[in-house]
Amino acid sequence: MPPPPHMSPAEFRQRGHELIDWIASYWDQLRATHPPHPTSDIPHPPSPVLSQVKPGEIFNSLPAHAPEHAEGWDQILADFQRLVMPGITHWQSPAFFGYFSANASGPAVLGELLSAGLGVQGMLWTTSPAATEVETRMLDWMAQLIGLPAQFLSASPNGGGVIQGTASESTLIAMLAARRREQAKGGTREGRLVAYASTQAHSSVIKGAMIAGITDGPEDRVGVRLIETGDSLAMDPAALERAIREDLAAGRRPFYICATVGTTSSTAIDPLPAIGRIARDHALWLHVDAAMAGAACICPEYRHFLAGVELADSVCFNPHKSLLTNFDCDLMWTSDRASLIRALSVTPEYLRNKASEGGGVIDYRDWQIPLGRRFRALKLWFVVRHYGAEGLRAHIREHMRLAELFEGLLRTDDRFELAAPRTMSLVCFKLRGQGKQTDDRNRRLLESVNAAGRIFITHTVLPRKGYVLRLAIGGTFTQEQHVRGAWEVLREAAEAEVKSEK
Ligand code: PLP
Repeated sequence: MPPPPHMSPAEFRQRGHELIDWIASYWDQLRATHPPHPTSDIPHPPSPVLSQVKPGEIFNSLPAHAPEHAEGWDQILADFQRLVMPGITHWQSPAFFGYFSANASGPAVLGELLSAGLGVQGMLWTTSPAATEVETRMLDWMAQLIGLPAQFLSASPNGGGVIQGTASESTLIAMLAARRREQAKGGTREGRLVAYASTQAHSSVIKGAMIAGITDGPEDRVGVRLIETGDSLAMDPAALERAIREDLAAGRRPFYICATVGTTSSTAIDPLPAIGRIARDHALWLHVDAAMAGAACICPEYRHFLAGVELADSVCFNPHKSLLTNFDCDLMWTSDRASLIRALSVTPEYLRNKASEGGGVIDYRDWQIPLGRRFRALKLWFVVRHYGAEGLRAHIREHMRLAELFEGLLRTDDRFELAAPRTMSLVCFKLRGQGKQTDDRNRRLLESVNAAGRIFITHTVLPRKGYVLRLAIGGTFTQEQHVRGAWEVLREAAEAEVKSEK
């Protein structure tokens, strides 16, 4: 049998350089070909922002069986270009305005590459002390940057932070810790556990409750109560208090509240001071999901989003949304790490080691669901050092300015209305009107804009507003010309929609 055809160091060096060149050219090309301004001299983008392939197209273009014999790198890369690239939606395009961004940057990608090259698996402190200790330091840095109180820092008696893959994992882990703490109350307490979040909370609260066995399924509204929101689409604390009292009176056991700072649909901010007081009064775990909004809090002028966070037991945000750190990277802090670790720790013989038993180190495997973990802190360390806090703030502030600009443009056109108060760099809007006909008009507008491919936007449904369009600004390369261009694209599409109705 021939030996395994490992890539030689020389070939790795050459191919690695080529691949970095490829990525740099790809980013250049996105910047050059995706300025959607119709007056631009640059031709229509060769590939639309949203991939236009049909379901199964990519799958069917790949061989049904793995190759028996080694293949050449040139062939592999050629197939990547030919088969994979058409099926890529260009998340790093400056004209990508859908969902929330998942932006990348040079230092983050290089950090990711280095982490892969080191190939460490940091489940225990001892399996790579640097992976753990850089992470702990990064969580402290970021906590200070967004203004979290000392109870969440690693030096506090029962606090600290950890990198999770996603905000959904943080929501689930906080729920598991909350349940552990509730169970630890012991005694004769019986009754079904109940979690609370607003109707606007991310679906990961329901999913977390499904995984944790708190609910019977996505439609079960006993295990998870969704609390109504007011005009600003933020949770109504009086309704929360009523729901908790009703559940207590019915013999159920409220144990967990997830407050959202920056909801997915419209970036509404749940009022943490009032929700926190309710959590304290009833001894419930309060988790703050600031997946999107947390990054903004590195700017002092947006810290008020997190006012009241000192009443929380856990909080998370995603640098992998708008903070220049490529997916995945969610930062989670708790002020009750003992409950979190009790919920997640189990120690088989083969993981025992002196450092862990000495008690002086963090083993992050006890803070997460899987055992193994990547050295994700490296890319965050690179990003924060490369940009500095000042550079990160400039990035966030520019997005806020561009969103304000887009809102201003929208207000000049009577055909459109703002569909929710704008708190951050997301603008929710729609063609005016109410009812199914208006929903259909907005749906058609979205579809035509995305099919044309010059920009990409997404939609949501909001209480009292129906089907609305979302323009989320957060791309690394997005500049004023792209936002003005997006407005032109939308105006033209609105004109076409109005004409087609005549
Ligand atoms: N929470 C909020 C408020 C979000 O907006 C999102 C995603 O947009 C999530 C959670 C889920 O994020 P993740 O993909 O990191 O699980």
